[in-house]
Amino acid sequence: MPRVFAYQNVISEVLKSSSGGAFIALCKAFEQCHGKGNVVFVGAALQDDMKVRHVAVQNANQCDVFQGAKYVESQCDDLFSRVLHELVNKKWVLFSGTPCQIYRLRLFLLKNQMQMDQIIFIDLICHGTPGEEIWNDYKSWLEEKSGSKLIKYFFRYKPEGWKAYPAYVQFADGRQLINTAETSIYSKLHMMGYSILRKCFQCPFSNEKRWGDLTLGDYWGVETLISLSNDQIKRGVSLILSHTKKGEELLDLLCQEEQTEGFFVETYGREYLKYQHNLVHPTIKPDLYEEFWKDYEKKSFEDMIRKYLGYGWKYKAIFLMKKLVRRTPLIIWYRNYKNQKMKKKDI
Ligand SMILES: Cc1cc2nc3c(=O)[nH]c(=O)nc-3n(C[C@H](O)[C@H](O)[C@H](O)COP(=O)(O)OP(=O)(O)OC[C@H]3O[C@@H](n4cnc5c(N)ncnc54)[C@H](O)[C@@H]3O)c2cc1C
Ligand code: SF4
Repeated sequence: MPRVFAYQNVISEVLKSSSGGAFIALCKAFEQCHGKGNVVFVGAALQDDMKVRHVAVQNANQCDVFQGAKYVESQCDDLFSRVLHELVNKKWVLFSGTPCQIYRLRLFLLKNQMQMDQIIFIDLICHGTPGEEIWNDYKSWLEEKSGSKLIKYFFRYKPEGWKAYPAYVQFADGRQLINTAETSIYSKLHMMGYSILRKCFQCPFSNEKRWGDLTLGDYWGVETLISLSNDQIKRGVSLILSHTKKGEELLDLLCQEEQTEGFFVETYGREYLKYQHNLVHPTIKPDLYEEFWKDYEKKSFEDMIRKYLGYGWKYKAIFLMKKLVRRTPLIIWYRNYKNQKMKKKDI
């Protein structure tokens, strides 16, 4: 069984990360452990051309390019030879990605008879990845609607909250969309499973047997285990599963950090499995998945979301209503009340 931790970074970092900002803290700890100049970090970045690719950087200060989940398949295999090269040159490598990427890299290193004691693998709990095609079509749809080029995108925009996956878009003409019906479309297609790659419904990695040293995810339900303020919950909490001695050694360094803000707590029991179906089985293919992709070849993106998400005035009205309801004093009071009750529970 893995050891399980709840982590929240300082506010400035957690707001840039998708969950509790564990990843960036681990990068800093890794550099602190092995020394500047001796380390290489590899992870997924959203580049200026709005494509998602794995890239390598040599300094923990440059690891902000990895912050925030990008819900698009990241091309990473081109970097495997680079990882091999760095290991041959006795560098310490931190590689992060989806479990299938980590598995492929491990196979590649094995084939090349490379020792793996100088590399740490950090994988993610993975609901499934949308392919590049649907991401490109969504971007073009947004650009057509606004008449301007998309230059910035956050798949999860934390200043607007953690649980509802609010997104942020910025266009070249300076306009921004923050948590609107239009920015919700991409994550809705992902959550409903339509945009996920076919292979993900048979994912052999949707369980707790991992190929990573550490696994990161969202600690859904953490407020039922430890006492947290509303603000702390709103910012997001990381779930960290530690599978190996190497993983634990890196976590020991996080433990030693002086905590001025944020927290790092070991939790016991397996409550998290209730919320993390991808640690139990792969995402279930939606009933209309095949029909969706048949239609996708013929219909425009707008027609697709009208048919499968009900996008239109009703969708927009419901979106707005939900957003307002989440902010009403009654809901805020109810959340506070629930948290007060939870605070009475033991850590
Ligand atoms: C496709 C996908 C599906 C996910 N599904 C779930 C889920 O079902 N449940 C859950 O709890 N968590 C899921 N996550 C993980 C979650 O969204 C956070 O990425 C994770 O908790 C790390 O958060 P953080 O705050 O520690 O760091 P962040 O700063 O958010 O770190 C981002 C990390 O994710 C990696 N990353 C980002 N995008 C990609 C990508 N496209 N491909 C490979 N690696 C990437 C970066 O390299 C970096 O290591 C998913 C992530 C992705 C990319
Ligand atoms: S669900 Fe499985 S196969 Fe799909 S991207 Fe994630 S790890 Fe890979």
